[in-house]
Amino acid sequence: MIAINNIHKSFGDVAVLRGVSLDVASGEVVCLIGPSGSGKSTVLRCINGLETYDHGDILINDARVDTQQADIHALRTRVGMVFQRFNLFPHRSVIENVMEGPVYVKHEPRQQARAMAEELLDKVGLNDKYDAYPNQLSGGQQQRVAIARALAMRPDAMLFDEPTSALDPELVGDVLTVMRTLAEEGMTMVVVTHEMSFAREVADRVCFLHGGTIVEEGPAKQVLSQPHHERTQDFLRRVL
Ligand code: ATP
Ligand code: MG
Repeated sequence: MIAINNIHKSFGDVAVLRGVSLDVASGEVVCLIGPSGSGKSTVLRCINGLETYDHGDILINDARVDTQQADIHALRTRVGMVFQRFNLFPHRSVIENVMEGPVYVKHEPRQQARAMAEELLDKVGLNDKYDAYPNQLSGGQQQRVAIARALAMRPDAMLFDEPTSALDPELVGDVLTVMRTLAEEGMTMVVVTHEMSFAREVADRVCFLHGGTIVEEGPAKQVLSQPHHERTQDFLRRVL
């Protein structure tokens, strides 16, 4: 489904990704963990074409992610992304935020887009917030709108970049519950997170990034409980 083959990426003189390879099968959930600056966000941004890469290949369902290609926009609609900050349109209501992509990008009829938006908002537990504005919602509610908005494009895969790390602790659980449900429904997901208990329970695989390479990967329980690599052990000692 997602195949990353030996990608390299530098910003000026700084090599940020130094040969990252990762295959994510359809329906698989992979968590990326690692210290600040290790390249986690850059990997995600390369997958959905927000960032170029210098060498290597990324294929999504066998189509190469190439920011120079005209079809990059089409590709981007097939991979949803949820960021640490919710990036909702502040002057649009919750339901309008969710309808935006289907109506303006996919040119779906408003009525159809609205019906789907309602369904998705119900799914993320916001059936009473259709007409609220983002600033009237808690951070956790806003993040769930952001998830619904990404799902409205009917993506083949979802990328999450620390979706809960800007939230007050008591709001984290609701967002993780939505993500856990998505995973159980078979969504293909790549999740950058510091929530180790989420990774342990939900991820099929955990990859530990350090200095722009994956130094260790394996089944979640093995990497998190019995890491082989010293750097992974150090990192986990500090975060657990
Ligand atoms: P964090 O846990 O802090 O979010 P990360 O693992 O997501 O870190 P990245 O954001 O991928 O790390 O950044 C990796 C490295 O690339 C960092 O050293 C960062 O400073 C650098 N970097 C990222 N984006 C840019 C950019 N647009 N221009 C220059 N350097 C960048
Ligand atoms: Mg990051």
